[in-house]
Amino acid sequence: EQEVDEYRKGLAIRVSGFDVPKPIKLFEECGFSTALMGAITKQGYEKPTTIQCQALPIVLSGRDVIGIAKTGSGKTAAFVLPMIVHIMDQPELDKGEGPVGVICAPTRELAHQIYLEAKKFAKPYGIRVGAVYGGVSKLDQFKELKAGCEVVVATPGRLIDLLKMKALTMLRATYLVLDEADRMFDLGFEPQMRSIVGQIRPDRQTLLFSATMPYKVERLAREILSDPVRVTVGEVGM
Ligand code: ADP
Ligand code: MG
Repeated sequence: EQEVDEYRKGLAIRVSGFDVPKPIKLFEECGFSTALMGAITKQGYEKPTTIQCQALPIVLSGRDVIGIAKTGSGKTAAFVLPMIVHIMDQPELDKGEGPVGVICAPTRELAHQIYLEAKKFAKPYGIRVGAVYGGVSKLDQFKELKAGCEVVVATPGRLIDLLKMKALTMLRATYLVLDEADRMFDLGFEPQMRSIVGQIRPDRQTLLFSATMPYKVERLAREILSDPVRVTVGEVGM
């Protein structure tokens, strides 16, 4: 335990919450399949970044996580890799309808980046990733969702539009990520975030990532996450 504390300290990782899984040093400790390890290597990722070292084992254990680390620290893979594992763990994946994984990001550009990263890791499994954000034909997105997606990467407004149009059902969505939560608030997406969360079953796993943690983000996190583990890397603004 002391060794774990020292390791965290050396990486400037702080954690809070009950029974926090210990950080890893190598991707090999995650129990990923050969296919997923291959995709990680292909991406050129040799070892996990600091946030990944601590967040991966926690998310893989099924816990809700508040992840706070600055931009460029590798937060995307910290939620995308366990999402792939979560999806592949679903029994009768081919029989259900609607996404299992739902990722929300504040802007089209951010959503698109996540979409590209998710696609790379989803590809070896044939997991279909749908992109749901503005600036792309809504009808095309409607059709893509109707054809079936196990993952949806979305900006909040467009996702709500498509939910209203019944382009997708959230019935089996069990893995929800709110990325760049602080920016979502800055852009006025709090009502949309709450609406989306309200449409997803409460027994989901919920992950909230942010570069800063102002009070309003903290408050939302407390409302929508269950028994979360909080992981902070480095110094973080409010
Ligand atoms: P954040 O969301 O924290 O801003 P990203 O997930 O966008 O950061 O990652 C930042 C960059 O680091 C990306 O180019 C990504 O491909 C790269 N990256 C992520 N994880 C690793 C890793 N384990 N090893 C090397 N590069 C990585
Ligand atoms: Mg990011």
